[in-house]
Amino acid sequence: MKEEPPKPAPPLTASQRLAEYRRKRDFTRTAEPRGGPRKAARKLAYVIQKHAASHLHYDLRLELDGVMKSWAVPKGPSLDPAVKRLAMEVEDHPIDYNTFEGTIPKGEYGGGTVMVWDRGTYRYGGVDDVDPVEGLRRGYTKGDFKFELDGKRLTGSWVLVRTRRGEPKRAQWLLIKHRDAAAEPGSEVVEEYQTSVATGRTMDEIAAGRKPRTRKAGRS
Ligand code: MN
Repeated sequence: MKEEPPKPAPPLTASQRLAEYRRKRDFTRTAEPRGGPRKAARKLAYVIQKHAASHLHYDLRLELDGVMKSWAVPKGPSLDPAVKRLAMEVEDHPIDYNTFEGTIPKGEYGGGTVMVWDRGTYRYGGVDDVDPVEGLRRGYTKGDFKFELDGKRLTGSWVLVRTRRGEPKRAQWLLIKHRDAAAEPGSEVVEEYQTSVATGRTMDEIAAGRKPRTRKAGRS
């Protein structure tokens, strides 16, 4: 017996996907990007931003269909395959948010310091014989989102597993490292790296507006 596949809803435009992100922010008050149109890149972007808001967390963002699908991970990622980290899905973010590092003003949505903790690209990590982007879409829809990271600090195979759909609240997922060469049982990667992968700054230095330490930025 053949099952009828569910009828796909018409795809949302990036602008429609970003409506909630924009509604929550006053772009005359915060330096965060509004998010504009972007040409399709060959590789999909990946970033983790460490965010000292009312509660410290790590925002995992994975590009899909013109936006960054986003999860707030309170404890951050773990390289230990035995560790499952809660990941609360939040609103889609614009792709140009990936380079945002700085301080969101107090009293604004997400007020606090943001550090680019890791960045790079990612790809479909499933084994199904489908188009890789279609594989990502299906994985996301099914709540079994397998991906391979190619970041500076995180690499290898990971999965996000949805545990609660969460309507009207946000969906909850678990972020889990698969067993592979990049797995490190017992390690605490978020403790290991305390500086920005983009500018070399600590959270305190970002908050104080200190100049980037990277070679690109010159002296420091
Ligand atoms: Mn956040």
